Amino acid sequence: MRRFFFAPEDRRGDRVRLAADESRHLLRVLRLKIGDEVELIDGSGAVWGAVICGTGRNAELVLGERRAAPAEPGAPLSLFQALLTGEKMDLVVQKATELGAEKLVPVQTLRSQRGAADRHRRWQRISVGACKQSLRPRLMEIAGVCTPGDFSFGLPPACLKLLFWEEERVRGVDDVAAELVESGRTGRPVALFVGPEGGFAGEEVAAAQAAGWQTVGLGGRILRAETASMTVLAVVGYLSGHFICPSGEVTAQMSRQR
Ligand code: SAH
Repeated sequence: MRRFFFAPEDRRGDRVRLAADESRHLLRVLRLKIGDEVELIDGSGAVWGAVICGTGRNAELVLGERRAAPAEPGAPLSLFQALLTGEKMDLVVQKATELGAEKLVPVQTLRSQRGAADRHRRWQRISVGACKQSLRPRLMEIAGVCTPGDFSFGLPPACLKLLFWEEERVRGVDDVAAELVESGRTGRPVALFVGPEGGFAGEEVAAAQAAGWQTVGLGGRILRAETASMTVLAVVGYLSGHFICPSGEVTAQMSRQR
């Protein structure tokens, strides 16, 4: 069943009004009409059945029963992504959402391309779309653009911090695999850091290491930043339990939801 997003502040009791872009998708693109049923998410992890009752610029719906949604599996992953230009950053936002990142932190690093700008509203829109498409009930949080500072980022001491560096010659993913598998069991938070098109500056790597980040190599090939982000989210996601097959019951639910 088709899923749409509403902002919590647009709910009055059991009535919900959709934003103009969501309404356009519902009414103009999919041509749904009054009485049709869809699913709604507010990004908190909740999922509702809902019936269309108004077809203005902001579509109106009546909330039905709240539906069980599978909890997000695996360790909580945060992706720290050095700012990239244009579509590259859009791609990282979309793929990080699909691949289960809990939070995306855009970072202005020394070699971030000059043209890389803070496009938070655009990224938010892309992430909501990926959330709906991937049936994620919970939105990925997108932080404001920040600078590295001392590279601590206010992360909890227990957080496993992995900075991916193409000049790392000793530590590979195998060397942190056991910790990642364990984090999938214990829920230990994991932070991943991928650099800009121009790579991390030497002083940035040193400062990150001093702040507890472990530098990790991905083998001898140099990946584009957007490729590296998808790769680390897939590999770390797999090891930390993000790709377990949901139980039969949940599978049935999810198939009903399509
Ligand atoms: N310095 C590179 C460009 C950086 S690649 C060059 O000379 O072209 C962009 C980012 O992707 C890097 O900062 C790093 O975070 C990640 N990355 C790419 N290849 C990697 C590898 N083999 N190992 C670890 N990280 C890698």
